[in-house]
Amino acid sequence: MRLTRYFLPTLKETPTEAQIVSHRLMLRAGMIRQSSAGIYSWLPLGFNVLKKIEAIVREEQNAAGAQEMLMPTIQPADLWRESGRYDDYGKEMLRITDRHERDMLYGPTNEEQITEIFRAHVRSYKDLPKLLYHIQWKFRDEVRPRFGVMRGREFLMKDAYSFDLDYEGAKRSYNRMFVSYLRTYARMGLRAIPMAAETGPIGGDLSHEFIILAETGESQVYCHKSYLDYDALAEEIDYEGDLQPIVDHWTAQYAAADEKHDPANCPVAKDDLVEARGIEVGHIFYFGDKYSKPMGAEVTTADDTAVPFEMGSYGIGVSRLVGAIIEASHDDDGIIWPDAVAPFTVGLLNLRVSDDACTAACDDLYDKLRAAGVDVLYDDRDEGAGAKFADMDLIGLPWQLVVGPRGVKAGTVELKRRASGEREELSAEAALAQVIG
Ligand code: ATP
Ligand code: MG
Repeated sequence: MRLTRYFLPTLKETPTEAQIVSHRLMLRAGMIRQSSAGIYSWLPLGFNVLKKIEAIVREEQNAAGAQEMLMPTIQPADLWRESGRYDDYGKEMLRITDRHERDMLYGPTNEEQITEIFRAHVRSYKDLPKLLYHIQWKFRDEVRPRFGVMRGREFLMKDAYSFDLDYEGAKRSYNRMFVSYLRTYARMGLRAIPMAAETGPIGGDLSHEFIILAETGESQVYCHKSYLDYDALAEEIDYEGDLQPIVDHWTAQYAAADEKHDPANCPVAKDDLVEARGIEVGHIFYFGDKYSKPMGAEVTTADDTAVPFEMGSYGIGVSRLVGAIIEASHDDDGIIWPDAVAPFTVGLLNLRVSDDACTAACDDLYDKLRAAGVDVLYDDRDEGAGAKFADMDLIGLPWQLVVGPRGVKAGTVELKRRASGEREELSAEAALAQVIG
């Protein structure tokens, strides 16, 4: 992509309305534009990252045996009256009346909707287990939308739902999601720690929030320091095998958010306890027959009795992750994208477009990179070198390939790794080999 054709409205000034670094950087890098409080348009650079994150989430959901579907954003209120949540949900739910005076709502989540689908189509234990998910926009009329996409009112969520015959089955489904979450965040360069969470009236131990540590996190969290060395990608996962040992490994040590933490009874020695701020990037939850029972969603067992489905739900904050990754990976100059979610792999900087030799060298590199299938953003604007360096650092692409008239004469280009700041003068061929390799 040539920058002269790309829509990238970067800002030089720091927007004063943004309180945290990820919000500031997303605005400055031209990734989003606020429409109203907590509601954003995603501009090309931001949308590109959102899609990369979504793709990783999708791959790991599919690998874990979940099937993708798509449910609507607008739901009928009657479904929520059946579960009892229409009144309980309160002001966070956006309620709508259609032209026939029917009560509708913009879905904050989809438990009722998926339960209705299963109630209509699944009758026998032979059809279970099933694990379905969708990646769809949600609306929650948060009291205090803030921190940009981190706490929006409209936001993109992956929500999965499991249906099983009994508790044992539900636990297996839960474990699948638990393990796939570990992999999902690790692939984005994040260290997410599963922390015991409130399970509400159902009780049990099957609810975990996946939290990444960051100074600007909204919750106070506590965990054993050993979690800082855990590696979620160390082993191959067989989702058909027994996942309990992996879940046990990741839950053996203490990790809890504020609501669950009791300083008087914390089992971890002070020196081994990490106290930090955390961002919740996912939440998984077993809730049994909480929705299936009131909604009359039943399945017949082998001995022909009807029982309500055992269910769980599993959320990932896809749009929140864009901000969360920036909170975890930036410096004073801008964003530092982990390779896996970077909007482009390389930024190619032409330091003097008026110099024919320089532009010819850049055009050649641009064609070769594209031919090799590398995503490249080519800064071909007629701007000073300083502005180009600043913008490239701000948008945080993993590699910068810098071409100037002096280097072209000497037969060299400069290759910079954004994360480490390391620079190297080398031939164009050698630079290409590194980036493509
Ligand atoms: P929180 O405690 O942050 O309000 P929640 O417990 O209400 O979140 P869930 O219902 O568990 O959230 O939703 C699943 C995931 O969706 C969360 O882990 C989070 O990553 C994301 N999420 C929830 N609310 C928002 C929001 N207002 N803006 C962006 N992402 C959100
Ligand atoms: Mg939660």
